[in-house]
Amino acid sequence: MFRLNENYLKLPGSYLFSTVAKKVAAYSDRHPEAKVIRLGIGDVTQPLVPAIIKALHEAVEEMGHAETFHGYAPDLGYAFLRETIARMDYQERGCRISADEIFVSDGAKSDCGNIQEIFSADCRIAVCDPVYPVYVDSNVMAGRTGEYNEAAQTWSNVIYMPCTAENGFVPQLPGETPDLIYLCVPNNPTGTALTRDQLKVWVDYANSVGAVILYDAAYEAYISQDDVPHSIYEIAGARTCAIEFRSFSKNAGFTGVRLGFTVIPEDLKCGDIAVRSLWARRHGTKFNGAPYIVQKAAMAVYSDEGRAQLKEQIAYYMRNARVIYDGLKEAGYEVYGGINAPYIWLKVPENMTSWDFFDYLLEEANVVGTPGSGFGPSGEGYFRLTAFGNYENTVEAIGRIRALRQ
Ligand code: PLP
Repeated sequence: MFRLNENYLKLPGSYLFSTVAKKVAAYSDRHPEAKVIRLGIGDVTQPLVPAIIKALHEAVEEMGHAETFHGYAPDLGYAFLRETIARMDYQERGCRISADEIFVSDGAKSDCGNIQEIFSADCRIAVCDPVYPVYVDSNVMAGRTGEYNEAAQTWSNVIYMPCTAENGFVPQLPGETPDLIYLCVPNNPTGTALTRDQLKVWVDYANSVGAVILYDAAYEAYISQDDVPHSIYEIAGARTCAIEFRSFSKNAGFTGVRLGFTVIPEDLKCGDIAVRSLWARRHGTKFNGAPYIVQKAAMAVYSDEGRAQLKEQIAYYMRNARVIYDGLKEAGYEVYGGINAPYIWLKVPENMTSWDFFDYLLEEANVVGTPGSGFGPSGEGYFRLTAFGNYENTVEAIGRIRALRQ
């Protein structure tokens, strides 16, 4: 009789966003007349910009002719894209990253979920709490987390780094030494970023204890403050301790198109083995390359036209962030984030849990957000709203929430 990977059975409940979706579907079934506004899941709503659509059309046309048809893409990505990323995302910012250190993929979720595979099963991981659930869940699936403590909602082999209002949502160096450190900056869900000085502390720490920082910069495009680095490789010493994940989902609206990349510098080594070589091997074995059409569309992200159009799109979302932030603040809520990230993190009223507040907003205002407790135990008592809705819905949702307090 076959046996299952029982680590999967250790995952507590279903994935956060499916629970949210089920609750919203049940509510809508009971109240079909309700106009529910979704500011919960971090999916974009604005269409692809014209420069990207044009690039997609051209690439589709190429696929229709034998002379310009493309089959399997190179496992690690087309050179045209890897070279452009290396130059425009890194070298022009003063980071020493070359094209062969870039691995193009179908998105950051796959990469930050899969990266743990190339590390030993007994590595200890450190994660910000709260954070994007994929890091812990993918390590649970791999059996890297020990026992679950129901009361504390923590795993014995995971070092949680609480990020709360008291420490400005900035993770503090852990008391115990981890092997892998997940940093999500700007952070999903708190919307907080790390300054250059704060990130330097982590780079120095990782180099001193021999840990690897897994740096998820999926929201890099939303950074607005000058002292917040756009890449960990802006920090001296990061080449020997950091892997960076990037996504085209939030900077270019590719959530349904799918593309991302991971950077592993040649200098990141375990003894004399380059970590990069294991990821290249994994990619070559388990991934058959991102589609040509999509990689061509990504090139438009770097064109002058594309950059100008995307700048406007990001400004559109960040205007929503302002509406949410200011509106909630004026309504008397304690609010964070929204400056370097499209997420607003708010403290729920004293007498409620995060899920109580979820139900309250859904039922009383028909607005969907995400309960903070779904991102980790320190998220309890908080709630996330996203700026990815359309402007009119965002204004209406905040108006409804404010009306509840009058
Ligand atoms: N990393 C973080 C922190 C995210 O919040 C998300 C999506 O919400 C992703 C990665 C997923 O990115 P992608 O769409 O490229 O898989």
